[in-house]
Amino acid sequence: MIRRKFLKNTLYSTLSASSLVNLSNKNNSISKDVPRIISTWNHGVNANKVAWEKLNNGEGGLTAVEFGVRDSENDPNERSVGYGGLPDRDGKVTLDACIMDSNNDCGAVSFLQNIKNPISVARLVMETTPHIMLSGKGAYDFAIKNGFKSQILLTEQSKIDWENWLKKSDYKPVINIENHDTISMLLIDSDHNLFGACTTSGTAWKMHGRVGDSPIIGAGLFLDNEVGAAAATGLGEAVIRTAGSAMVVECMRNGMSPIDACKEVVQRISKLHKDRPEWEYLQVGFIAISKNGDYAGYSLKKGFNYALTDNENDSILVDAKYSV
Ligand code: ASP
Repeated sequence: MIRRKFLKNTLYSTLSASSLVNLSNKNNSISKDVPRIISTWNHGVNANKVAWEKLNNGEGGLTAVEFGVRDSENDPNERSVGYGGLPDRDGKVTLDACIMDSNNDCGAVSFLQNIKNPISVARLVMETTPHIMLSGKGAYDFAIKNGFKSQILLTEQSKIDWENWLKKSDYKPVINIENHDTISMLLIDSDHNLFGACTTSGTAWKMHGRVGDSPIIGAGLFLDNEVGAAAATGLGEAVIRTAGSAMVVECMRNGMSPIDACKEVVQRISKLHKDRPEWEYLQVGFIAISKNGDYAGYSLKKGFNYALTDNENDSILVDAKYSV
């Protein structure tokens, strides 16, 4: 079994080096240890465990990432995702999510209210409609029609936090704490196929109707099964402006390692935003996995971390490198 896996990986790395894409980078050790899962922030630790179990049960990469991030959506103590997520400035919890598989199939929902698991609605959009994204009431109606339950997502604690925020009504998304932390998960399976999921309640106290990067394929999440996958967290406007995740993947296609690709895009964001008022509170972070299983996380400012699970690491938290 182990020998077979070794041979497969060896064969794969020979193929990828010669015919797929140049992923070599002298500064980074290339790991061929797959399967592997990485996801943003500390809520990724549990989410990865759920995903890993699904994968080991043979349920496939797509189900693994879906149920992995659902773990955060379901947790009322996660203040930035799903149930318990902090609301917008009108006191409404509005959710964004997307999911993508190794065939470039993808689904998304944005500005969805009263549905606890937007990631599962996103998957259903992908699998049962001719579209990629449903939004607002249309997404809600679609979910209800497909058996999802309508429920109040604003917890007592979130309501108190919102009422306190209203006293000053100052919109400055706080970085690196639980009101600014999407869960984005990337998975490479033992066949080197890639999967990704991304779900969030978005920046706390956003304008009603605001949609961030997280449900946008190419911004919050992107993968190209020939090359690698990337996902984002942080201030969505900055990630959309630069097509963040798509650019990380494109940098990998052009030969960069995951760490260099993430760094390159963070530096573009940094350059673009240095003179903008949001620089003061700007944080963005990317995670990436290349087709051969190499991985990285990188952020603009200190404080970003990500969870790593593979055959050697039982959901450990890794501090990401950062720029400034
Ligand atoms: N990217 C998310 C958004 O802008 C927020 C976050 O990652 O914290 O909606």
